[in-house]
Amino acid sequence: MSLASKSKNSRFKGASTIAVHGGAAREKGFHAMTTPIVQSATYTFASTAKLIEFLDKKVYGGELDREEYARYGNPSTWAVEARIANLEAADDAVFYPSGMSAVTSLFLTVLRPDTHIIMTDDCYRRTRQFCETTLKKFGIAASIVPMGDYDALEAAIIPRKTRFIFTETPTNPYLRVVDLRRLVALAKPRGVMTLLDTTFATPVNLKPLEFGVDFVMHSATKYFGGHNDVLGGVIAGDAPRIRALKDARGVFGNVIDPHQAFLLERGLKTLALRVRHQNEAALKVAQFLERHPKIERVYYPGLSSHPDHEIARDQMTGFGGVVSFEVAGDIKATSDFIDRLRIPYIAPSLGGTESLIEQPAYFSYYDLSSEERLAIGIKDNLVRFALGIEDAEDIIADLDASLNETPAR
Ligand SMILES: *Cc1c(COP(=O)(O)O)cnc(C)c1O
Repeated sequence: MSLASKSKNSRFKGASTIAVHGGAAREKGFHAMTTPIVQSATYTFASTAKLIEFLDKKVYGGELDREEYARYGNPSTWAVEARIANLEAADDAVFYPSGMSAVTSLFLTVLRPDTHIIMTDDCYRRTRQFCETTLKKFGIAASIVPMGDYDALEAAIIPRKTRFIFTETPTNPYLRVVDLRRLVALAKPRGVMTLLDTTFATPVNLKPLEFGVDFVMHSATKYFGGHNDVLGGVIAGDAPRIRALKDARGVFGNVIDPHQAFLLERGLKTLALRVRHQNEAALKVAQFLERHPKIERVYYPGLSSHPDHEIARDQMTGFGGVVSFEVAGDIKATSDFIDRLRIPYIAPSLGGTESLIEQPAYFSYYDLSSEERLAIGIKDNLVRFALGIEDAEDIIADLDASLNETPAR
């Protein structure tokens, strides 16, 4: 059986065309349209000569065109990595069983003892936790700087010690947008690498590598999988760095299984269709909420009221499918508003076909008191709405009906 070609040099420009054809060859084995799920722990060689041909490439750095042992990959993983590399305009990409697996593997591979990293204060909570616990144990220090404060960022760089700056864009839950040109201009001359988590943007809306960022990472659980049914994580970047990450993955053993990769490849085909719809619907929802008397504040980078609107307009082609807002009411009025809604499910996550809603005071920060939450900027009446692919008109009618039952403050 012949396997998919590893060619990542797509001739296509559009995100939807790449999402369907990018990185893939016509011949996927068994004359199949899709990449077959190869449920095999190991792969056979027809002869010693064939084995030597493979090892020459593996050891001396050639383009591998077959599998060897399942911890090093499988055809579905290979196909999905090639396609994401194409979408991100990267040399290559590496897949992991979850977004957290991607982040932690990168940190453990790239960092050395007695080094330092910088993160922004609204980074994904588990990422921050990893830095403040595990990395600390290995003698790696982390500085946390306020998002949007580029002077603080510059001041936090320790010459010859700071290895990289890790940030997200747009961020959760306030959808802050990083000025990538400014970030790269700060980091590059000082020899500091940049890692951007652009899970909320997707390559349909933003391609950080085109701005000179070193690594881009995604929780593929969100928009890439897109159906709320599979976990995954990915990092894209230049060939030698991704190769080093793939080698480390073979040692760590956090490989993605063929069925998981198959679901991601399938979800990816409709990525651009879904994201463009979500961009459009989210903007309508944000505009509706901003006009509603029972809403105190809306956070959406597509609105001119957002502090990073100009940067977002400059570097993004769409503003994404997540809208955050504050209801005019206390913690109870806010949860009552959520409970009356008929479309969104109460659940963490985002980027799938079903709309999901959460009240961060409960979801991510239940262990903190109201005062402690406020100290890190999470208000009790804050709501994060992650749009699915439902029609904007229905979502708006649902929100409107529930807001109109919210008692006046
Ligand atoms: C969900 C998420 C992660 C973690 O990804 P998992 O796939 O859940 O491990 C990291 N970063 C961001 C921005 C996320 O939304």
